[in-house]
Amino acid sequence: MCQHQPPCPTAESADREAAHPLAHFPEQGWSLLCNGVLLFEDTGELLPDGKIIDPHRPLDSRNIATAA
Ligand SMILES: [Zn+2]
Repeated sequence: MCQHQPPCPTAESADREAAHPLAHFPEQGWSLLCNGVLLFEDTGELLPDGKIIDPHRPLDSRNIATAA
């Protein structure tokens, strides 16, 4: 699915959120990443194999720049 060079992290990778967004739907609160992951605004994720990742970042930190 991903055609970037270098390739983005796969959906199985812990780094999966670093993949490029292919589609962004801010009004619906989610983005589709090029590795097939659906990334929700609350940091929850839906993986291509149907696995759900619970939101894992406190919402009140969204205005703080992430260092990593
Ligand atoms: Zn990519």
